[in-house]
Amino acid sequence: MNLILFGPPGAGKGTQAKRLMEERGYVQLSTGDMLRAARASGSPLGQRVAAIMDAGSLVSDAIVIELIEDALDRHAGAPGFIFDGFPRTVAQAEALDALLARRGGGIDLVLRLEVDEAALLARVTKRFEEQGRADDNPDSFKVRLKAYADQTAPLIPYYHAQGNLVALDGMASMDVVGAAVAAALDAV
Ligand code: AMP
Repeated sequence: MNLILFGPPGAGKGTQAKRLMEERGYVQLSTGDMLRAARASGSPLGQRVAAIMDAGSLVSDAIVIELIEDALDRHAGAPGFIFDGFPRTVAQAEALDALLARRGGGIDLVLRLEVDEAALLARVTKRFEEQGRADDNPDSFKVRLKAYADQTAPLIPYYHAQGNLVALDGMASMDVVGAAVAAALDAV
């Protein structure tokens, strides 16, 4: 199973990915988590992306595509992959299609979590207060929302054309969204 959890920052992608890891043994591939780990380790890559991430902009396609390719190789044989926060541009989506095709697969399902902007802002403000993630500050969050609208939203027609896009109401409670995610997966 190759699943993309799709939606703007704060839509609940990470929360649902963690549930699916526990319930189904799928591997979560979050480029945001990988980049944060690179920063925490102080690696040259981490140092290169720090300012871009804190400002809320996207890092280059080449960097995240390489991270995903490495992770796919490291977890070869996993029962499923959850792509969380990747792809975020059409170039990344095309690269992912090519990476999966080379491994004899493709995207099986794209679940779009729909949440209105006021709710996103409320969730991310709460996360900023609780976790202090630098890019959750209000100014960076505005940049992240704009990056989503300009660079990531064009993936909606891309996956719609492939026929595997399913939209879910991401405003519901975590458990209700979780049940809808499970039903969509079971229908594939
Ligand atoms: P996230 O945790 O997914 O919200 O990602 C946090 C930050 O990491 C983003 O605001 C970007 O700066 C960077 N990032 C994560 N995933 C990607 C991606 N697929 N393409 C470009 N930048 C990314």
